[in-house]
Amino acid sequence: MSDNKEKTDGLVSLVIDGQPVQAKEDWTVLETARHNHIHIPTLCYHEAVQANGGCRLCVVEAKEGNWSKIVVSCLYPVKEGLQISTSTAKVNNVRRWILEMLLAECPASKEIRTLAEAYGVNSTRFKIDRPTEQCLLCGLCVRVCEEVVGVRAISFGSRGVNKQVATPYMVPNNACVACGSCVTVCPTGAMQARLNMVRGNVSERTGHGHAH
Ligand code: SF4
Repeated sequence: MSDNKEKTDGLVSLVIDGQPVQAKEDWTVLETARHNHIHIPTLCYHEAVQANGGCRLCVVEAKEGNWSKIVVSCLYPVKEGLQISTSTAKVNNVRRWILEMLLAECPASKEIRTLAEAYGVNSTRFKIDRPTEQCLLCGLCVRVCEEVVGVRAISFGSRGVNKQVATPYMVPNNACVACGSCVTVCPTGAMQARLNMVRGNVSERTGHGHAH
């Protein structure tokens, strides 16, 4: 415990967008930016669950010595002397590419459209397989259900273009406690429409007639 504790308590100094900041050595770049009120866009990130770098929108440019590269800030660990830029031309190009892919992945999502427009992306060159889809398959709902609620009522079902967040066998799952956490964290509102399928008729199951 003491070894770990000492490590966790160590501070490293880095620079984000020209601003010198300090971070605990087990923090990521995104955590450090948030701690210092520096905005980095995210969709699949929530501080309550493990980051998984799923949406890639939080890319930033990291410079160290003579090299620089694009990294996923929610997974990238801080390091002494690191220089981070959150919105260079390179970074914004990558984000525009990601947003184009997301426009094809979940074309019915108002949130994604608004975000894409903010980056000047109004259309996509990628193929749209599911025109009514709102879900970007970031898995935040799955992680919250498992890691925070401790239930695992939902998971990724099917593969490829049919991949979706669902209950086992696509039938209402009695394990769901209808807490609504998945709906709350969903960045696009996609889980709202899916919750009825997931939880089934709660009044029949509990005799309470509503979700709480
Ligand atoms: S409402 Fe059901 S599926 Fe959603 S987080 Fe709660 S238990 Fe999991």
